[in-house]
Amino acid sequence: MNEFEMLAELIFPDITLTPEQCEIDFPPRDLPEGARVTRFAPSPTGFLHIGGLFTALVNKLTAKSTGGTFLLRIEDTDKKREIEDGVSEIIKGLTDFGVEIDEGVIGFNKESGAYGPYQQSHRKTIYQAIAKRLVQEGSAYPCFCSEDDLNELRARQEEQNVNKGYYGEWAKCRDLSFEEQKRRIEAGEPFVLRLRARGDGSHRITFDDMIKGKIEMPENNMDVVLLKTDGIPTYHFAHAVDDHFMRTTHVIRSDEWIASVPLHIALFKACGFRVPKYAHVSPIMKEEDGNKRKLSKRKDPEAAVSFFTEQGFPKESVIEYLLTLINSNFEDWRKANPRAPQADFPFNLKKMSPSGALFDLVKLTDVSKNVISLMTADEVCENAVRWAESYDPELYKLFTENREYATAIFSIDRGTAKPRKDIAKWSEVRGYVEYFFDEIYKNNYVLPEKISNKDAAAILEEYIKVFNFEDDKDTWFAKMKEICPLLGYAANVKEYKNDPDKFKGHIGDLSTVVRVAITSRVNTPDLHSIIRLLGEEKVEARLNDALEYYRNN
Ligand code: GLU
Repeated sequence: MNEFEMLAELIFPDITLTPEQCEIDFPPRDLPEGARVTRFAPSPTGFLHIGGLFTALVNKLTAKSTGGTFLLRIEDTDKKREIEDGVSEIIKGLTDFGVEIDEGVIGFNKESGAYGPYQQSHRKTIYQAIAKRLVQEGSAYPCFCSEDDLNELRARQEEQNVNKGYYGEWAKCRDLSFEEQKRRIEAGEPFVLRLRARGDGSHRITFDDMIKGKIEMPENNMDVVLLKTDGIPTYHFAHAVDDHFMRTTHVIRSDEWIASVPLHIALFKACGFRVPKYAHVSPIMKEEDGNKRKLSKRKDPEAAVSFFTEQGFPKESVIEYLLTLINSNFEDWRKANPRAPQADFPFNLKKMSPSGALFDLVKLTDVSKNVISLMTADEVCENAVRWAESYDPELYKLFTENREYATAIFSIDRGTAKPRKDIAKWSEVRGYVEYFFDEIYKNNYVLPEKISNKDAAAILEEYIKVFNFEDDKDTWFAKMKEICPLLGYAANVKEYKNDPDKFKGHIGDLSTVVRVAITSRVNTPDLHSIIRLLGEEKVEARLNDALEYYRNN
């Protein structure tokens, strides 16, 4: 045994696992040519950020569009940042939006796949097996510097105005003699394990980022920490080990990691691993006072994906909106294929924008109205029921007890060539259906300013006289037109426009009064359908109540 080998035995006496065995345990995947293996690797810090969902979606689409595999790995080496339920939150966040996991952590203490464990805290032996080999080869060494030593080092570097960090001649423990290492380890002195960087910082490396393009940076010259004093790996070392043995082909992650790529390449090389392809995703930005900034968990409720679930944006809407940010050709594709499933979109990683997309809630709302307008009445009802079950128990009860009636409400004007786009999220459904249920209906007889309560009373009086619940749509409308002249209103808009002074208003104003009397809204889907659905008794009662109100106010 040479000194490096003796040192490795001293540090890792119990590690019998070898890198060769890991290669056998986690063999290259048997996948078709061109299939990409991607992963989403969040830390369980308690919530899923919309930017995280965005990155996960890019990973999922990359795998799916190439017949590959998308896996979920949980990076829980930093126990200080972890919160209870963090893992469940992430899985719920992904599944709520249909970003299904092919492999990896799939539930609390539940995994699927042959490349696990997929939770870093359960992979300690694998990291140590690789670290042991690095020590044997002289590529890693124990460092006994204390916090104070490191602070002092930093202060001296500051004084001399040189790059900060543990490198080159500053790396005090790099060349300790084996005797000293042995003595200090046997004395129980705490130590971390550091990489012995091969580069001295004088060279530059280039790599092709699949989103950002060609990037050139100084090579790594830092003796970074691989294992902390407790033997737990740092993010950097775990990234190299995990993505190698999980056989990730494409590392697609947030661009905050770009600066670390030279180090990561150095780590892959030191371990003898093939370097994966990298694609760095820009953060989702928000515009505020003319400036762009990252969406922040603290300031922006929409930063957490749970916001969209609580508000009741359908998962299809959120994904549809994210797709518009992911590939600039998505909207053209959508125009050409208005009803095609999202899964048919030919996603292309290379078409991702290298700069940060702006998050626009107004645009999401529009996208969502469109998505919901294309759903069947049954789908709308089912989605609304599922949402109400968690967030609006009263509505849930009304819908489940009157399921057919509820579905009929959503059938009005649906499935036409130009469906109405008036619901953006399930939390708006209550307002949309309120006047169909006496239990939650609150009347509000406010009219457009140009119609006085006195005129409204006159209109309703005449209308009640001719109203017949059995009338078909044409007869019903013809009757409204018939009473127009009696009340001083034009029976059609053209007639009114020819000589506005001659009339109080036109048929549109008259039907507004009837609409408000029945629904307390100036805007609704087809009023005749509403009347038929509400039933004779309810409609007559509403007309009479409104008449009474306009007479007395
Ligand atoms: N755990 C890292 C994070 O949450 C993951 C980075 C990566 O995808 O490699 O930022």
